[in-house]
Amino acid sequence: MRAKDLNRYLGDLGWRRSPIPPGSKTPSGGGTSAHGETLESLAAAAAGCTLCRLSEKRQTVVFGEGDPKARVMFIGEGPGAEEDRTGRPFVGQAGRLLDRMIFAMGFEREEVYIANVVKCRPPGNRDPKDEEVAACAAYLDRQIELIGPEVIVALGKPASRRLTGTNKPMGALRGHWSSYRDTPLMPVFHPAYLLRKPKAKREAWEDLKLVMARLRALE
Ligand code: URA
Repeated sequence: MRAKDLNRYLGDLGWRRSPIPPGSKTPSGGGTSAHGETLESLAAAAAGCTLCRLSEKRQTVVFGEGDPKARVMFIGEGPGAEEDRTGRPFVGQAGRLLDRMIFAMGFEREEVYIANVVKCRPPGNRDPKDEEVAACAAYLDRQIELIGPEVIVALGKPASRRLTGTNKPMGALRGHWSSYRDTPLMPVFHPAYLLRKPKAKREAWEDLKLVMARLRALE
């Protein structure tokens, strides 16, 4: 099923898959801190969070999921309706495209870690407000520290702006390396944007190839 999806996705664009051979992981992260905090304990704390008003309308806190030792962490903006219902990030239409992007990079979804800048659904799928992003900041920062990814991919504007600390447009941010707390950071167009603007998939793939090259260099 995945191979079929991938062939359709890549075939449309004339892309070729360049799998990343399994490599060593960095010794940092791995899901547990030196003080015994784990992703599970952090998720349990987030489950009862009322730090911002998104908690009033949410069905589920969508903490994030994936390999606690992931080499790559993908960070989107916030849960949509399907994510709010299921408690899992990127499971809607945009999530299915993200799955194909991940697979095109040579990974299974389970091998990476997927999270969002806000853990509760913004009503009507609006962008999260600054105060909501700020209220959720500590959860994301702890998540990044616990996982210790080698590379972070920021998906779309809210995540890219939050992690680069700038207000630049996506067109200026994408494809350019920066870092978030010493971890290399690559902003990439959000899969939901790519569904609306399929021509931008080519640029997204260029950016993901930079991520793959960086990962290879880190092996
Ligand atoms: N689903 C998510 O979990 N995050 C997004 O940014 C979009 C859809």
